[in-house]
Amino acid sequence: MKKILKLSAVAGAVLVLATPLSAKKIRWRLAETWPSTLTPLASPPAKLAAWMKEMSGGKFIIKVEGKEKHKAALGILDMVKGGQYQMGHSGSYYWKGKDINTVWFTTVPFGMTPSEQYSWFYYGNGMKYMKEVYDKFGVYSYPGGNTGNQMGGWYRKEIKSVEDLKGLKMRIPGLAGEVMAKLGVNVTNIPAGELYTSLDRGTIDALEWVGPGMDIKMGFHKVAKYYYTGWHEPASEMQFLVNKKAYDKLPKEYKKMLEVGMKAAAMDMYIENFAASVDAWSKMKSEYPDIKVKRFPKPVLEALKKAADEVYSSYAAKNAKFKEIYEDYTAYMKRAREWSMMSQYEYLEISRELGITK
Ligand code: CA
Repeated sequence: MKKILKLSAVAGAVLVLATPLSAKKIRWRLAETWPSTLTPLASPPAKLAAWMKEMSGGKFIIKVEGKEKHKAALGILDMVKGGQYQMGHSGSYYWKGKDINTVWFTTVPFGMTPSEQYSWFYYGNGMKYMKEVYDKFGVYSYPGGNTGNQMGGWYRKEIKSVEDLKGLKMRIPGLAGEVMAKLGVNVTNIPAGELYTSLDRGTIDALEWVGPGMDIKMGFHKVAKYYYTGWHEPASEMQFLVNKKAYDKLPKEYKKMLEVGMKAAAMDMYIENFAASVDAWSKMKSEYPDIKVKRFPKPVLEALKKAADEVYSSYAAKNAKFKEIYEDYTAYMKRAREWSMMSQYEYLEISRELGITK
C-alpha cells in the first residue's frame, strides 16, 4: 500500500511537470477603439482571440469589447495602463497628446510605405523605440495591422490652390493634422461613428478616413465627391497594447503564442484591407462615376511638404527623443526608398510600359 501511494505521488508530480499550462486558465479582456463590427480595423483582435483560444486548447480566453460596450474610443491606453483591460487595440498616434513620439508607430506625413516601415519595425530600430516610448505607460505596444497607403480624403469642393485650404474644417488626426493647421485648416478629430453625419451636415468640409475598401462603406462619396490621393498616412499601423504586469505573469508558452498571434493578425489585416480596396476600387469606377479622383496640385503638395518639415523640426528642437527617432526613421527611409524604387516602382513602371496595367 505504502509503495503504491509513493508511486502515484511520483506519477502525479510527473504529470504536473509535463503539463505546466494545465492549471492556468487565463481570462483576459481587450478593449478596442473601433465598434466591433468595423472590419478590417476590428479584425486583428477578433482573429487573435479566436487563435489564442484554439492554440491554448481553450485555456487562454480573450474577450474582445468594442467601442459600443466601453464607450471610450480614445481611452484605450488609459484603460490598459490602469489594468481595467489587459489588452487594447487602437492607433498609436491617438496618444500624441500624452507623448508626441507615439506618432512614429502609426505613420507620419511623407513617411515610409508599409514594407519599408515593417522593415524598420522588425529589422531596424522601430520596435526598440516603441518599447522605450511605451515603457512609462506600463504597457507593451506591438504592431496591430496596417491599412496600407491611405487616400488623402474626401472634399466637398475642389482644392485648386493653397488658398482653398484656408478656413476649411477637416477631420484629420496625427501629425498630418498639425501640417494642415499650418496651412490654415481648422483641424478636428471625430470618432468613426460620427464622421458621415458631420460631413453631411457641414460640421466639417472635408475628412480623411482610410481608403476605398473602408471609405465607400461609410458613404462619404454621397456628400463629398472629390477624392484625393494620399500624402499624409502612407502606412498606418494599428496597435496592440498589453498591460505589462499581466503580460509578465504569463507562462512563457503563452507569451510566445500571443506575440506570434499579434504579428500574424497584424499581417492579416494588411492583406484583408488591401483585398477590400481592390474590390471597392474596381467597383467604384462603374458604380459611382461621379467620384472625382484627384492628386493635389504640385504647389499644394510642396506647401504640405514644407509645413511637414517645419513640424518635424520644431518637435526635434524641443524633444531629444523625437530628434533621435526622427533621424533614425529618416535615415532608414532614405535607404529603404532606394530599394523600393528599384524593386516595386521599377517593376510597376515596366508593367505600365508594356500595357499590363494602365
Ligand atoms: Ca486615416
